[in-house]
Amino acid sequence: MLKLNIRKEAMSKIDSNLRNLPSVDKVLSHQEIKELAEEYSREAVLALVRKEIEKARVAIHSGQSSPPLRELLQNIRHSAELLWRAGPQPVINATGVILHTNLGRAPLSQEAMTALNQAAAGYSNLEYDLLGGERGNRMEHVEHLLCQLTGAEGALVVNNNASAILLALKALAENREVVVSRGEAVEIGGGFRIPDVLRQSGAQLVEVGTTNRTYIGDYEQIISEKTAALLKVHTSNFKVMGFTYSPSLEELISLGRSLQIVLLYDLGSGCLLDTTQFGLAPEPTPQESIARGVDLVFFSGDKLLGGPQAGIVIGKEEWINQLKRHPLTRALRIDKLCLAALAATLLHYIKEEAPSKIPVWCMITTPLSSLEQRALAWAEAVGERATIITGESTIGGGSLPGETLPTKLLALSRGEESIDGLAQRLRQGEPPVIGRIEEDRLLLDPRTVLPEEDEPLLNTLRNALKSS
Ligand SMILES: *Cc1c(COP(=O)(O)O)cnc(C)c1O
Repeated sequence: MLKLNIRKEAMSKIDSNLRNLPSVDKVLSHQEIKELAEEYSREAVLALVRKEIEKARVAIHSGQSSPPLRELLQNIRHSAELLWRAGPQPVINATGVILHTNLGRAPLSQEAMTALNQAAAGYSNLEYDLLGGERGNRMEHVEHLLCQLTGAEGALVVNNNASAILLALKALAENREVVVSRGEAVEIGGGFRIPDVLRQSGAQLVEVGTTNRTYIGDYEQIISEKTAALLKVHTSNFKVMGFTYSPSLEELISLGRSLQIVLLYDLGSGCLLDTTQFGLAPEPTPQESIARGVDLVFFSGDKLLGGPQAGIVIGKEEWINQLKRHPLTRALRIDKLCLAALAATLLHYIKEEAPSKIPVWCMITTPLSSLEQRALAWAEAVGERATIITGESTIGGGSLPGETLPTKLLALSRGEESIDGLAQRLRQGEPPVIGRIEEDRLLLDPRTVLPEEDEPLLNTLRNALKSS
């Protein structure tokens, strides 16, 4: 009897809470919501209102009381802001990682942005031959530039490097074998694993050697009439140290040549400049691979090349033509915006102005003194919680593993709240600022912050420190 009474009581409480819930019309007639409906549309806002009321109804059935109207309205406005903000949202990269894949890799040069804008705003001769007034080819805008810069006979550009490799394996090795050194059957990041890509292409992976040591003899032994290609992968995001060996590029090239098996080289980064002139370890360049005689070389557009997302294949015309003819090429084609930005980026290399025009190279070549100056100016604006310390920036994005550049960092010590709390405040700032945490300090590296971002960064920083 008592149990039944309690149950009855609970039921009537739920009923009264449900009755207290405002109707959809009542919420819609609220000034705040009317303004929201004006900014977006009545339809879109109506859906949010219904969803929020439904959520409250479910909460009431599980025993909670009906939310105050204020809270309901606030939730609706908050959802609208969250759902209908145009993204990806710009953020300031103060991590010191120049090619940060999660933050969009390479920022574009002014010229590349202008080219991209022009291609976006109107029509273009993307696939139109202005001289003859007939159908043209979208590769023409970049192929001659790539060939001139690298000495290759031919070039093809697709959506990204992963798709370029998939395309080549599919076009040249489907249902046949591809030989890869065990130490190079790697995961690049973001789920790009050489063995998986091979499986997707329908080619069969044949691993040779051991994780740390592979000899040319290992390749020779395994090659048969089923072998379609040798694939060399630049292990771009890790280093194997100590007791290691891998055959030289020359050995692989002459083996491929003598047995007439195509040699594919996935370089990853597409670094066209000599990195040793900037105090970095040597990074293999596409042009030297071509000069030595690699058949096809693969690299990304948005790593050390410093351009938009793209997958670039250069090499012998015979093989490039086979790729161009494959039906998958159409499915993986590069879009006009990236193509325009890529052509403008390549032109910087033709003009030998890459280090001063392409943002990733500007970042790499920034002198320590100017980094220190900026860090000092930040510290001055921020106040006593900031100090300047010496640290290291990294290249990232699967280039030059283990290589660092000396830098000056703004180090923020913790206030009342934790250092994680401060980092979160910065991430949620306007604009968001992303730093890194080391030894209970928040570190901000000026190297990866574009000069015009100094003021916005300080704005976020001041606000975050004020409220922490
Ligand atoms: C980054 C990388 C890839 C993938 O390139 P995406 O352009 O991101 O598709 C493939 N191989 C290597 C060696 C890489 O470093």
